[in-house]
Amino acid sequence: MSDLLARRTRLLGPNVPTFYERPLQIVRGEGVWLFDDTGRRYLDCYNNVAHVGHCHPRVVAAIAAQASVLNTHTRYLHEGILTYGERLTAKFSHDLNQMLMTCTGSEANDVALRMAQAMTGKTGLIATDNTYHGNTTAVAHLSTRRPPIGGYPPHIRRVPAPDSLAPLGGSLAAQPQAFAEGVARAIAELEASGHGFAGIMLCPIFANEGTPGIGPGFLDPTVEVVRRAGGLILCDEVQPGFGRVGTHWWGHDFLGFAPDVVTLGKPMGNGHPVAAVIARPEVMAAFRNAFGYFNTFAGNPVSCAAASAVLDVIEDEGLVENAREVGAYALGLLRELRHPLIADTRGFGLFFGIEFARDGQPATEFCGRVVEAAKDAGLLLGRVGRGQHILKMRPPMPFSRANAAQLVETLDAILRKMPA
Ligand code: PMP
Repeated sequence: MSDLLARRTRLLGPNVPTFYERPLQIVRGEGVWLFDDTGRRYLDCYNNVAHVGHCHPRVVAAIAAQASVLNTHTRYLHEGILTYGERLTAKFSHDLNQMLMTCTGSEANDVALRMAQAMTGKTGLIATDNTYHGNTTAVAHLSTRRPPIGGYPPHIRRVPAPDSLAPLGGSLAAQPQAFAEGVARAIAELEASGHGFAGIMLCPIFANEGTPGIGPGFLDPTVEVVRRAGGLILCDEVQPGFGRVGTHWWGHDFLGFAPDVVTLGKPMGNGHPVAAVIARPEVMAAFRNAFGYFNTFAGNPVSCAAASAVLDVIEDEGLVENAREVGAYALGLLRELRHPLIADTRGFGLFFGIEFARDGQPATEFCGRVVEAAKDAGLLLGRVGRGQHILKMRPPMPFSRANAAQLVETLDAILRKMPA
């Protein structure tokens, strides 16, 4: 392991993140399980990419079958992308019925930003002050993990994210209005600055912000403000999409609003790099006419076979229903966990957060120790939030009640041993 780490640093350079103080070498995956080089197995409670389970045999077989027949770009006619796109867009309402394929969520978001600019003829964009939407230059300007060299460009505005430790002021219940007011101020600034307002990019459940315990209707005041200003709502569904929220296929349907553009990624190919933008026809037309678009790899027959197999498995194995049922069961158990530093426990389907705070401030170091101890106990968890103080759990969708019980029992044992 230490040899691999040294080779990695020598080859890839500094600051290439690993999980854990002593990184794991994972060599195999199956369902909700990952196996390390010693054969030890870990319950994966973090990986939303392996949406239908690691190495699902139907996805593997679909990739292999198509790869052995044809893989090429989208400048030839091919049935695969059409069949897939028709199935996928049928899962959307609000006239979101056209698709553009990319290979990553970052590219999808990059296209979405340009769609807003093509529709409005303006350049101003808004995101929250604690988020990540990807790694192209344009999209990185919205992300807050590392400010760009030279600072944020003047056509970008960042608004305070909803936060259960309440920096927006007042209780979470008062935050829909406070959030919308932040957006209205940013729009006014963009209009006054001459950039104008093109659109706002949001994850509907604010996954990277820390999945605050918002519910249906939270974004209604914001949607109204954006619509009144003539901007577009760009909905980043890279994390909540494909049924993870349990009640719906998409986070925006759970919250109950109609976006202009939706971006998809991570879970879409179960690990195969495939992503997409879904838009209303007039938005797609404005983008295609303004920019044109070709992507050498995106939408190729193998990617479409992988993505189609993911839809098959979600439907045939009832995974959206599973997310709803097991998610509710797991959330009930997680809410019974007791520790003086637990400030809040929340979840949407198979997406959970436990927030640790000390005197109302993020308990960053404590949360880090929980993640490390969980790994030692055979559980893979992540963390998120402005203080990296929120345990983040997003297991593969076939997560069972037994898996949920194991997660909560293990966490309980860990928390009992960790003094505040
Ligand atoms: N949007 C969100 C909300 C994400 O979490 C991520 C990845 N963490 C991305 C976009 C970028 O996706 P990708 O890594 O596929 O470019």
